[in-house]
Formats: sequence, structure tokens, C-alpha cells
Amino acid sequence: MQYDVVVIGSGPGGYVAAIRCAQLGLKTAIIEKYSTLGGTCLNVGCIPSKALLDSSEHYQNAAHTFKTHGINIKGLEADLTQMMARKDVVVKENTAGITYLMKKNKITTYQGLGSFVDKNTIKVAKADGSSESINAEKVIIATGSKPTALPFLPVDKKRIITSTEALSLPEIPKHLVVIGGGVIGLELGSVYARLGAKVTVVEFMDSIIATMDKTLGKELQKSLSKLGFEFMLSHKVTGASVKGKKVIVSADNPKGEKITVEGDYCIVAVGRTAYTEGLGLENIGISLEERGKKIPVNEHLETSVPGIYAIGDVIKGAMLAHKAEDEGTYVAETIAGQKPHINYNLIPGVVYTWPEVASVGYTEEQLKEQGKKYKAGSFPFKASGRARASMDTDGFVKVLADAETDEVLGVHMIGPRVADVIAEAVVAMEFRASAEDLGRICHAHPTYTEALKEAALAASENRAIHI
Ligand code: FAD
Ligand code: NAD
Repeated sequence: MQYDVVVIGSGPGGYVAAIRCAQLGLKTAIIEKYSTLGGTCLNVGCIPSKALLDSSEHYQNAAHTFKTHGINIKGLEADLTQMMARKDVVVKENTAGITYLMKKNKITTYQGLGSFVDKNTIKVAKADGSSESINAEKVIIATGSKPTALPFLPVDKKRIITSTEALSLPEIPKHLVVIGGGVIGLELGSVYARLGAKVTVVEFMDSIIATMDKTLGKELQKSLSKLGFEFMLSHKVTGASVKGKKVIVSADNPKGEKITVEGDYCIVAVGRTAYTEGLGLENIGISLEERGKKIPVNEHLETSVPGIYAIGDVIKGAMLAHKAEDEGTYVAETIAGQKPHINYNLIPGVVYTWPEVASVGYTEEQLKEQGKKYKAGSFPFKASGRARASMDTDGFVKVLADAETDEVLGVHMIGPRVADVIAEAVVAMEFRASAEDLGRICHAHPTYTEALKEAALAASENRAIHI
């Protein structure tokens, strides 16, 4: 078979690239080694984790806040089997949705491992041992990532697990040890902490979510501590072993002393690594980056081989579904001869804990490093009428603006539903709004978005109304 474009990998990068190629009139095929489409994101990432976060949040509220609302429940219990079953249905509906979209857009789907024979020939090796070859004018590599393994810490997938197994645990852990205070550790730790597990996070850095604006990590640590999380910061994990139903994690504490933490499960969440195994990159002369083992690409996301592009987690940049999607669209449009654009500084980052955390643009630490003169304005959710009504008063919104021009340079928030509120900041920054612009725009009352308006007023002219 001859195609204009063949996409390898059906995650949010790959399937969006395929749909956009088809929309632009290109004859397109997609290859996926797993039996369902949607990649990490739909099968073992964004979607199942959010399904479990939603279920556990309902349980947490029923157990702890309903009473204050005047709702009394007797005999409340968490049914993990049903929670997992509901999550599986959500995943199934979403992956089936991608199969439907492939058919709707007349994209041919091949199930099997795709590998390069040469730059225009891809072999698809199927589960039954058979294989077939397909030809492509252009190829988009979207093979994503897998959990990073620590060489000194073997994952047995039963007691020492990755995020994938944590999404399908057979029981609520009594004591869950989380290695890594990044996004995965805090989101999945939250699921089980809400269901009653003791959660201990062992983190190498001196703060959690260390790549985000420092103030966010501090505030989130306070909120998660109230939920029962324990944090061991500046601790470097050095190993773990399983003894019966116990996991013993060893680490070096800040003084350099050896300590151990004992739990019944341990999630290793220390990042993700680009996935290129079995792709046959050596057959077309593509070598991986020395650090990070990612596929190197130029500013058009084209590899060193003309006509072969790479997108998403397998290349540099944030490992986020929406970044992969935007790159999928970018490459499809580039192949079709258009001149698309991605503003990498305005890709929002969100952590779906409660309170949620969301960020876009430069952090205060980055602005200081650049020597940029900036103004900062914050507004706490405890001063928001909407947040008081819903009893979600933890957190704040912080707006950073250029000291001279007032242009918004960064927005960082922690609080209720800020995963959705951040979209307003992204739009404002795409249109290069000033903090005053944001402060003068009418915001519906009472909403969480008013906190952004107030923080913008505080940043622009130090004239927030409600504090
Ligand atoms: P992937 O989604 O990894 O898809 C790659 C696909 O390629 C896979 O299906 C794989 O089987 C297939 N493949 C690989 N090699 C081959 C081959 N040779 N032949 C055929 N097929 C192949 N991001 C967010 O933005 N928001 C979130 O809330 C979020 N939550 C997450 C929660 C968890 C627990 C995890 C693990 C990740 C989360 N992420 C989230 C990250 C997000 O899932 C990834 O950034 C995103 O899936 C990357 O998309 P991708 O298309 O590059 O690759
Ligand atoms: P991460 O990079 O966010 O966090 C890993 C943490 O592990 C870091 O803080 C690091 O300092 C720590 N660490 C590394 N080695 C250690 C050691 N030996 N001992 C103790 N701590 C150690 O990675 P993650 O949480 O695994 O997430 C992987 C990727 O998945 C991220 O890039 C993220 O973008 C993506 N993801 C996104 C979302 C979201 O958007 N909501 C959710 C989940 C995952």
C-alpha cells in the first residue's frame, strides 16, 4: 500500500496528526502496536488517572465535607472494584472514540509494531507473527514514552509499581510510598490518600513539583499535608526491596545518612523516557540525543532524514498530551505546505490534585534568572466569595507582568478548578494582553475566575478590590 503519510503511534500526538493530515486531503495510515488506540494518554495516563481522581474526590467530599454542607451519610465505604470498573468504561469509551474518528476520516489503521525498513518503507509486525510492508512519502514518528526505570530499583509490577499498575491496584494500600514528588506521584498519591491510604512522598529535590513556580509547590505541600501526605524532601532514593507484602525503600537523607521507609506498595514516578525500541531508527541513520535519548528534530520537527518527522513525548519539550496534539497539527500542516506556529512558552501545565495547580508562561525564578524587571500581584482564594461558598479556600492566583509595558509574562495558580481557569490566562497571553487588560475585562460573579482578575489588578496597579 502507498500512502502520503504514515503515522507510527496512536497517542494524542499521532492520532491528531493523522486526523489533520486526512482533513488536508492526504492519504493517511496509522500504526499502533497495542490493541486499542489512544496511546499512553487514553489507556494508562491522563484519562484513567482523571477518572480515579474524580471518583476519589467524590469519596473524600462525602467522608469529610458533606457533613458541613448538611448532608449526613451512614455506612459510607469506598468500593475500589467499582471505581476501577467505572474507570475502565471511561477508557473504553475514549479509545473507541478514536477508532470511530479514524474511520470517519478514512484513515487506515494497522495493528502491530511499526519499524523502518528504509525511509519510505515501514514493516508492520503483527501479534500473530505475520507482517506486511507499507510505503509512505512522509512518516510521522509519535511513539511516545514509558516510565523511567531506576537501574538500582527493579519494578516487579506487584509491590514496586509504575503509574500503569497504580491505575489498576487490587486493593487500597495501607501505606503507599511514592518515589518522586512530581505530577504522577502527587496525582496518584492523592487518589489513594483520599481513599484512606497513608502516603509518603520521597523526593530528591527540596520541593515538590519543582519545575513549576516555587510558590505553587509550597502551597500544594501545605494542602496535601492536610490530606495526610508525608513529605521527605531532599531525600535521594537508593533502592527498594520486597519482603512478602512489604516494600522497604532506602534513601539518603539531607545529612547523607541512610534511612528506610516501609510500606505495602511503592510507586516509582521519577519521570518518563522516550520510547523508540523496535522502531528500526538505525536502518535510516537517525541517532538519539545523548542526554534523554530523545529523537532530535529541527524547528519544523523534521528529523535528520528529510520527510521523517517526530512529535510528542519522543522529542524534546514538555511531556504533555496537549503539546503532542499541537505538534501533530503543526507537522500535518507543514507537510501540506502551510506555515503553522507553536508558542512553546504558552503551553499550560496542570496538576490535577485538589487544590488543582496550573501555570503558563515564565515563573518568578525564570524572570529573576533573565534579569527581567517584573511586577507581581496575588489574590488568595480565601478572599473569593465563590471559593468560600464551595469551601475551597486553599490557594491563590499570581500574575507576573512586565514592569514597564505591563504585558503579562506568567500566570501561576493553585486553587479550585484552576485547570480550567488557566485557559483565560493562555488566551490573554497569546494576544499579548497587559495585566490592566485582564483586570478591566468583566468576569462573571461569583466565579473562581474573579481571582485572576483581582490578581491582574494587583499586578498592574496594586489595586485589587477585595483584599
Ligand atoms: P503516547 O501517548 O505515549 O502514544 C504513543 C503510542 O505509540 C503508544 O500507544 C505506543 O503503543 C505506540 N507505539 C510505540 N512504538 C510503536 C511502534 N514501533 N509501532 C507502533 N506503535 C508504537 N499529560 C497531560 O497533558 N495531562 C494529563 O493529565 C496527563 N496525565 C498523565 C497521567 C499519567 C499517569 C501518565 C503516565 C501520563 C500523563 N500525561 C498527561 C502525559 C501524556 O500521557 C503524554 O504526554 C502523552 O500521552 C504523549 O503523547 P504521544 O502521542 O507523544 O505518545
Ligand atoms: P516528573 O519529572 O514530574 O517528577 C519526577 C520527580 O522524581 C522529580 O521531582 C525528581 O526530582 C524526582 N526523582 C528523580 N529521581 C529520584 C530519586 N532517586 N529519589 C527521589 N526522587 C527522585 O515525572 P513524573 O511525575 O514521573 O511524570 C512524568 C511525565 O508525565 C511528566 O513529564 C509530566 O509532564 C507527565 N504527566 C503530566 C500530568 C499532567 O499534565 N497533569 C500528569 C501525569 C504525568
